Amino acid sequence: MKPSIVLYKSIPTDLHQRLEQHFTVNSFDGLTPDNQSELLTALQQTEGLIGSGGKIDHDFLQLTPRLRAVSTISVGYDNVDVDALNQRGVLLMHTPTALTETVADTLMALVLSCARRVVELAERVKAGEWQDSIGDDWYGVDVHHKTIGILGMGRIGLALAQRAHFGFNMPVLYTSRQPHEEAEQRFGARHCSLDTLLEEVDFLCITLPLTKQTYHMIGRDQLAKMKSSAILINTGRGPVVDEQALIAALQDGTIHAAGLDVFEQEPLAVGSPLLKLRNVVAVPHIGSATRETRYNMAASAVNNLIAALTGTVTENCVNPQVLKQV
Ligand code: NAP
Repeated sequence: MKPSIVLYKSIPTDLHQRLEQHFTVNSFDGLTPDNQSELLTALQQTEGLIGSGGKIDHDFLQLTPRLRAVSTISVGYDNVDVDALNQRGVLLMHTPTALTETVADTLMALVLSCARRVVELAERVKAGEWQDSIGDDWYGVDVHHKTIGILGMGRIGLALAQRAHFGFNMPVLYTSRQPHEEAEQRFGARHCSLDTLLEEVDFLCITLPLTKQTYHMIGRDQLAKMKSSAILINTGRGPVVDEQALIAALQDGTIHAAGLDVFEQEPLAVGSPLLKLRNVVAVPHIGSATRETRYNMAASAVNNLIAALTGTVTENCVNPQVLKQV
């Protein structure tokens, strides 16, 4: 009999069919759907989970006595309690390579949008405000040759450094716990403390995962150290930045502008003060949201689940120590 799995996010038909070749697939539209009792029954039997988001913690695992693998359609897994999975011997698979370049493109798009006020000025044109040749109240600021700061030099940070160095002639500073040799050799990136990063850069780009250490890593004190002309970009996770402190800093001119793909609460509340600020570009967690990349992420997650449940894992495993137990 085929192993039973729970799919809790819609994926392309061909990938769904690939899953069905290997498994009995029970599909839901999230981990808290309307048909809760059907989900609970499916979770009792399931050996694999594939989807994105949803809280997978100790309590959730009580519902899944036969679970052997979780395959998240994302690189980030801050919604998953990895220690709880380890205790139960459940593998966690993710998609670290499928989205790197696309998220770096999103970061650069936010840098350019904020510096050149693309969204704000396009809205003014649509509102009929472009009546004459523009004056300096319509000007933006340059991106090329400015200093970019990368907070979290990992896969996405490296792809951003490449764009900034070769595409925009930008000096690259970065902060990570460990120096990143490749970033330094290929893109002339310079490792520095968080304080130096905050004080020196024109663009602070946050590409950190959300962990206990990175929660609210950027708050009022850190924002106060930034240049008043600096622009903050966050595609990591919303809670890495204290959103109330950021709102205050944007309102009182502590920093110049922000480009935000991620927020403390998602979807962002319609009444959020961020949406009233002209110096904010807010987009709906679109870091990896292109047709090609979202397909590739789903394909990677499908392959990851098949590998995990057939004992053929060679990559994309967050907790490989569990492999020794299964
Ligand atoms: P990654 O390769 O693991 O890079 C993250 C880097 O952050 C690591 O290299 C790590 O370097 C650094 N880091 C971790 N904790 C740190 C700390 N306490 N202080 C300083 N640096 C720290 O991951 P990635 O693939 O680049 O993805 C990064 C994050 O982006 C994901 O975890 C996810 O949250 C987010 N993301 C968002 C989107 C979106 O749609 N907006 C899409 C994809 C990913 P050290 O170990 O040397 O410190």
